[in-house]
Amino acid sequence: MASRFPARIETIECPFAGAPLYLYLIRGDTGRMALIDSGIADTPSRYVLPYLAGRGRSVSDLHTVIVTHAHHDHFGGNGELFRANPNIAFMAPAAEMEWVEDGRRHFNEMYRSFPGEWEPDDAYEQTVIAWCGEGVPVARGLSGGDTAILDDSVSLAVHDIPAHSKGHLMLALEQEGVIFVGDALQGEGTRLSSGTTVFPLYDDVANYLHSLELVRRSNAEWVCTGHHGVLDRQAAEALLCQSERHALRHGEYVLRQLQDASGALSLRELVGRLHEAHYPEYESAYQLHATTYAFCRHLQRQGQAKRIAEGGRLLWAAAAN
Ligand SMILES: [Zn+2]
Repeated sequence: MASRFPARIETIECPFAGAPLYLYLIRGDTGRMALIDSGIADTPSRYVLPYLAGRGRSVSDLHTVIVTHAHHDHFGGNGELFRANPNIAFMAPAAEMEWVEDGRRHFNEMYRSFPGEWEPDDAYEQTVIAWCGEGVPVARGLSGGDTAILDDSVSLAVHDIPAHSKGHLMLALEQEGVIFVGDALQGEGTRLSSGTTVFPLYDDVANYLHSLELVRRSNAEWVCTGHHGVLDRQAAEALLCQSERHALRHGEYVLRQLQDASGALSLRELVGRLHEAHYPEYESAYQLHATTYAFCRHLQRQGQAKRIAEGGRLLWAAAAN
């Protein structure tokens, strides 16, 4: 029989802009609390602080905030939490601290990484920058092998899982059989209430598949995700399999488009064809471009695709063409 979900962990549901989002509160025996991820800029005032107040608790008991990875919907609430309690220790991936501390830098270095192929419009930029909130200095950068200790009853083992961003962390509360995996398990993407779906995002295919395997091997009873809620072992395995299948299928689609094209394709052209042929229900935004680019590089490493620099543009073709 499956074990009960540990009472010291509480899930705070914090949807934003039609997207599901879950933060996790861990309570130590001393009453100290840690929060896993902080949402977007107004998540604390909309959800976290009312949640604490509604249970007769105080933000002054919030001792630590740990950010699983440096995306706006996971660190954007740091500013409001800091204003509510300046004594909170903010922790984040050592490899991504600069993005957590500076939302503008996060935006520019991530969303402007495909000039000429995909670029954010002004409205998108303003929205994401607002979601990033005020930057707060990170007190401690974490990476695989570290331990984050709340008190004698709660210590989190830190693992590197570069599934969805280069410095992405998995946090394991080992004695409780629980792991916190942020956005490592992406399945077929995140469905928004508007009906459109956000494509799974990863910058390296091998890292994604390897990270899924690390999550599987953790053998956790409970897997706490950023956008899919809490999963028991069986549900987590189902999402892992779906994530792997989706990745393998996307790789096949990318290769087929390159093989069927009469000439080399830019990333923009390749994504346009993929979107039309396979992904009408997905938004054709940064995620689809970045993940498709990751597959081009993956196919190139495997000798199935080649990159061609032509007229100042980067083009992709099947290796046999
Ligand atoms: Zn993310």
